[in-house]
Amino acid sequence: MPTDLTYLRAAIAEASDAEANGEVPVGAVVVHENKIIGRGQNRVLRDSDPTAHAEIVALREAGLALKNYRLEDCTLYATLEPCAMCAGAILHARLSRLVYAAPDPKAGACGSVLSVLNHPQLNHKLDLLPGLLAEECGTLLTNFFRKRRLEKSSARILGTEALTQEAMMATKKKWSAKVTTDSTHPDEGLFNQSAATIAKALASKKVSPKGPASGMRMLNFYINRAGKNLSTPRQAELEKAKTLLSEIIAKQKSKSLAKPAKKATKKAANKSPSKTRQKAPSKKSSTK
Ligand SMILES: [Zn+2]
Repeated sequence: MPTDLTYLRAAIAEASDAEANGEVPVGAVVVHENKIIGRGQNRVLRDSDPTAHAEIVALREAGLALKNYRLEDCTLYATLEPCAMCAGAILHARLSRLVYAAPDPKAGACGSVLSVLNHPQLNHKLDLLPGLLAEECGTLLTNFFRKRRLEKSSARILGTEALTQEAMMATKKKWSAKVTTDSTHPDEGLFNQSAATIAKALASKKVSPKGPASGMRMLNFYINRAGKNLSTPRQAELEKAKTLLSEIIAKQKSKSLAKPAKKATKKAANKSPSKTRQKAPSKKSSTK
């Protein structure tokens, strides 16, 4: 018999997949009569859609599955405390239950920042189970943000085209080819190349030693940073590069599934204690 943990694990798988595609790792599933009827992962960057949070994506799929916008007798499992938008959608859907893992001290609308659910003046009430696997899901996020901070600083340097390669080396030691580092090293002007060249370079070990997902993050940051300064054809080319890169990621993922041993070592390496950005609740929830 599947338990809350079973379904939360399915949500975590969605979150990991989001991360593999360069998105903030958040995942969700909707369960009805012991069956997953909706899966969602954060895809705001890929879809250029501020509403494409994991919960919303999963709710949409569930609504289609039941052919009903009311999702009564359904449970939503999310790896992160839902934000105000998602909590609002949960109310509109009349969900009966919400299980979520890590609290979100920055945007959580289930008690952390706002208390949208079970508001005394609202009619709809639902069961809440926070904190299940909170530590695991919190670590997923803290590791992601740590990696992203590293890449962001590289991206910033990459963007200052006035700086010569020499000056970069002088200011930032990690740009020297002799230093081994986790940071990415795309060649100058890479993002002016063709989509295929960009995708290939970003997927390479040289630029993304930890795998092509970090290349995808780099590309997303470049696009977000350059924003409206990009010409329309350039924007289209970069979007094409995104598509190509996600195809490479999908291909590598299916390959790496065949080699579980490698994954296990990677997991162990990531096990370093995280900062308290995502605080696990002091009360350990029962696993039901
Ligand atoms: Zn949300």
